Amino acid sequence: MKANNDFQFKKKFGQNFLTDTNLLQAICNDAGITEVDNVLEIGAGAGALTTQIAQNTKGKVLSVEIDTTLKPILENKLSKYKNVEVLFGDILRIDVNVLREKFDNQPFKVVANLPYYISTPIIFYLIESDLPIKSITVMLQKELAERICANVGTKDYGGISVVLGLYGKVTKTRDVSRKLFTPQPNVDSSIIHIEIDKDLSCDIKKVSKMVKICFAMRRKTLSNNLMQGLNLPRTEVDKILQSINIAPSARAETLEKEKYIMLTEKFINQL
Ligand code: SAM
Repeated sequence: MKANNDFQFKKKFGQNFLTDTNLLQAICNDAGITEVDNVLEIGAGAGALTTQIAQNTKGKVLSVEIDTTLKPILENKLSKYKNVEVLFGDILRIDVNVLREKFDNQPFKVVANLPYYISTPIIFYLIESDLPIKSITVMLQKELAERICANVGTKDYGGISVVLGLYGKVTKTRDVSRKLFTPQPNVDSSIIHIEIDKDLSCDIKKVSKMVKICFAMRRKTLSNNLMQGLNLPRTEVDKILQSINIAPSARAETLEKEKYIMLTEKFINQL
């Protein structure tokens, strides 16, 4: 498929671009961009969202884009915005210190229409870094957004819902029809907003490890997953579960994040 400047859309880079100005402004509103905010965008594409962000802030806007063939289009579109810089490279291979320096160590917000094929790794790359990120507002495949924002006890609730909840308050701000993308993907999308507020009462990395163990086999009981994952006898696992009012026969999707924090404390020597 062709766009302008002989540009060819590349499926392998998840290139589904936006043009609807109302939607682009809605993304900026969902991100709460004010005129003093610094913003990191992942995937400039043809610069539609970058432009909208630049119109909402006088702060620094850095956009990381993997596809160098977009260079002429981006130069043409963005040269009038002196606060915008495009950094060509793979976001997952850029040293976080490069990003930190680009923003002079100042806090920034992340805003992106993420490439579907690596949405989850990008979110974790950012959230697990120690970068001064205030919030993350991203377009994702609808199914992934629903899993991330799922309530405890529902079929969508999983490890990712618990773990991201340890980093801040996560909300789905809107659904977006596939019709608004060019080329049109075969899935719908949603925007999620994560207001970063790390749970300082726990070691998030350790709790994440515990969550992974508990959800390893969804249909197994917690007792079975913990025995296997921590290599402990059932009697010991069940005794500890009962001491914090968790039935050994319970399943991982019935536990709130607070229970995972408690479980992590109880089994800390095995993690
Ligand atoms: N922001 C544009 C828009 O909304 O129209 C483009 C969004 S498009 C869904 C995702 C963009 O991310 C593409 O331009 C793609 O080339 C870029 N991209 C894909 N993988 C990337 C990576 N690993 N690092 C940086 N950019 C990437």
